[in-house]
Amino acid sequence: MNSEGVRFIQKPVVEQPVWKRIIVESSLPESLNPLRVLSKNLWWVWNNEARELFQYIDQEIWEECAHNPIVLLDEVSYNRFKELENDEIFVSKMHHVYGKFNQYLEERNHLEGPQVAYFSMEYGLHDSLKIFSGGLGILAGDYLKEASDAKVNLVAVGLLYRYGYFKQTLNLHGEQMANYEAQQFSKIPVQPALDAEGNWIEVYVEYPGRTLVAKVWQVNIGSVKLYLLDADHHENPAEQDRSVTHHLYGGDNENRLKQEMLLGLGGIRALQKLGYNSDIYHCNEGHAAFIGIERIADYIKNTGLSFEEAKEVVRASTIFTTHTPVPAGHDSFHKDMFRHYMNHVPPKIGLEWNEFEMLGKASEYEDHFNMSFLASNLSQGINGVSMLHGEVSKTVLKDLYQGFLEEELEIGYVTNGVHYSTWTAPEWKEIHKKYFGEEFPANQLDFEIWNNIYQVPDNEIWQIRKALRLKLINYIKQRFADNWIKRNENPKLINDVMGKLNPNALTIGFARRFATYKRGYLLFRNLERLAGIVNNPDRPVQFIFAGKAHPADKAGQDLIKHIVEISKRPEFRGKILFVQNYDINLAKMLLQGVDVWLNTPTRPLEASGTSGEKGVMNGTLHFSVLDGWWVEGYQKDAGWALPAERTYDVQDFQDELDAETIYSILEDEVIEAYYDRNHEDIPEKWTGFIKNTIARVAPNFTTGRMIKDYQERYYNPQFQRSQFVTNNGFKMAKEMAAWKFNVSSAWKNLEVKSIEIPDGITNKMSIGKEYPIVVKVDIKNLSSEDVRLELIITENEGSETPKITDIIEFENLGCENSICTFKYNLHPNHPGSFNYGFRLLPKNRNLPHKQDFGYVKWI
Ligand SMILES: *Cc1c(COP(=O)(O)O)cnc(C)c1O
Repeated sequence: MNSEGVRFIQKPVVEQPVWKRIIVESSLPESLNPLRVLSKNLWWVWNNEARELFQYIDQEIWEECAHNPIVLLDEVSYNRFKELENDEIFVSKMHHVYGKFNQYLEERNHLEGPQVAYFSMEYGLHDSLKIFSGGLGILAGDYLKEASDAKVNLVAVGLLYRYGYFKQTLNLHGEQMANYEAQQFSKIPVQPALDAEGNWIEVYVEYPGRTLVAKVWQVNIGSVKLYLLDADHHENPAEQDRSVTHHLYGGDNENRLKQEMLLGLGGIRALQKLGYNSDIYHCNEGHAAFIGIERIADYIKNTGLSFEEAKEVVRASTIFTTHTPVPAGHDSFHKDMFRHYMNHVPPKIGLEWNEFEMLGKASEYEDHFNMSFLASNLSQGINGVSMLHGEVSKTVLKDLYQGFLEEELEIGYVTNGVHYSTWTAPEWKEIHKKYFGEEFPANQLDFEIWNNIYQVPDNEIWQIRKALRLKLINYIKQRFADNWIKRNENPKLINDVMGKLNPNALTIGFARRFATYKRGYLLFRNLERLAGIVNNPDRPVQFIFAGKAHPADKAGQDLIKHIVEISKRPEFRGKILFVQNYDINLAKMLLQGVDVWLNTPTRPLEASGTSGEKGVMNGTLHFSVLDGWWVEGYQKDAGWALPAERTYDVQDFQDELDAETIYSILEDEVIEAYYDRNHEDIPEKWTGFIKNTIARVAPNFTTGRMIKDYQERYYNPQFQRSQFVTNNGFKMAKEMAAWKFNVSSAWKNLEVKSIEIPDGITNKMSIGKEYPIVVKVDIKNLSSEDVRLELIITENEGSETPKITDIIEFENLGCENSICTFKYNLHPNHPGSFNYGFRLLPKNRNLPHKQDFGYVKWI
């Protein structure tokens, strides 16, 4: 043995690999560099000329890469670029588009109006950026595009998901397979967000016993910047933290809480690091409600305000848009788990745990912390997303406002819209420019202009419809035959289906998430009747279905399977088609190509719905239950509506009735109008409906109208109020908080001394007579200006929720010591049976609305 030899070698301390990022870009010749610039701003998505430019480079690759210009530029060969360099037409077109792009940005260099910071869990901007699942995301994406077009000063925040939402494929049996593909961030339109020194910006969020690090990415949408937080960072040692942002709406409730902490708390920190100091904070759905907490903490830390003072400032500048009409749909977290994660927060805002917890609860006894309640408590403006949904939201949130009647709650609405330039077919855009003027759609808010559609000859309208339908049928044949072959579908069946798809048949589309309330099954209640409808040889009809079911929603998946099975039956082949993987591109093709868009939600569960709005701009007629936007949109001779009133309490009966009504309307009205042709084979009644739809329905449902509503109803008034409370070193915020504190501590001591009500009121009153009511209240140490007394009269008969007939403020005749006399002379002027009540409310002309301060005393 050689004892002098090596005895033992220590295990080395090896460091983790250190990765530095390099990006190798393709060999694009210098002179074609504008293409690179254009590919990195999503402006191209809604500008046809830019699209055409990319398509021209290589049509085949363009289709293969699913219209992703970043991938396209990587994959096109050097030789092809050399060719393009010498292609004069191409080069001049490129410079033309590039010039337009630069001019567009230049016109948006200096923007007026308050700066809005917009927060959303998802954004649907383009299929290549998989950070959306459905309507909520598409809406947010459209909104950003419009903000850019409309020169609104807006910056947005969201999360960057490595896997995003799933891609749907169906197997032979119609079962949904959910595939999550990792996004390669170098191949999508995101880039690192850098600080002034060129360092990649990171934000930190405290989790129990550790700190989460997230990188910040930037997406350019015209002049709007969207910042996305990404937790998949090597500095996060725990795997479960790196995967926080892997999936959109995946994972469990705990992961959801972690995501929402990142979005809300981290989102505000990101904006700070980026140098933003926005005026208005818009919380799109409750997911981002922690923004209010983080901002309050900042005010406390940086300006020395107290919690209540900071809350005044934050409320004034925050607006909360709720999208969910059922209470169960609102995010909430069990109090134990919530405390585990959020325990460190209350000390930062000067609250005890139980005080903090009440920000997300309507009563002490609830065991969940509700994000919509938090958002409501920290927002002055609250709105639903259609007129009907605004009302429904009052019911959903009413527990927060005890003492107020549902009807009087300050919860408004802004009806959702869609981005015209994204969703309108190029063929229609041309017609619109021709008849509405070259300036269109910049002047889309001038509704008169849309009336020019009546000048378009029927033939021109009908040719477009035919062309778009044909384009859709070809698209489906091509793209979806491939899928069917891949899943080993019987070739005979494929041929049968493809052969039967008919570019001239009345084509009806139904595509959306397969959530139960959307009732995708409705059409299939009576298969015999349906078979009769689709197989009429003189008047054929075909239905195209698409949509994803959430991976945890078994019922939704079963429904898809059921439709796929039906579509394979001999009598339905080529008549009912289920097309897989509903995404933005497919939505566009469908909404532009079908003749009728069908929607069958259970009322009032479709908060707004937007896909039908995309249809109407393309002359696609809408046929829907009167729910969501269609309540406002439907007009006679511009689509069809299922009656609003519910006939049966039992859902099954209601479904039966609705299904039969749908079949009848289809047979008697829709099919009738479509196949009623004049000597030129044009369905004049149909083209008339199309014109009515474009003139009278479409203009109301653009994001142009929507963003203007937000500005007028929320952003501008709240900006003013927010300046009012912050000016002069937060003078008003401090005063309001002090006043509220004062009133709240005195409130329970208020004492009603006497109520004098004339006999008539308690028995029977007569119209034309006068009934003086006198109430004496001991207001203790409050001032007489602080208190108002109201008489509320409601009409009760026949409805569960009282309907307000009148709210009257009493006159304060004066106070002796602390006893004030309130008087009102009641003059009844309508016969009927009413209820009445009195209530005391704090009074202050600087309250934005009554419900801003929840103190009410009914007497
Ligand atoms: C518009 C759109 C939606 C939302 O449609 P609804 O009518 O609101 O259900 C969902 N997914 C995609 C891909 C869309 O384009």
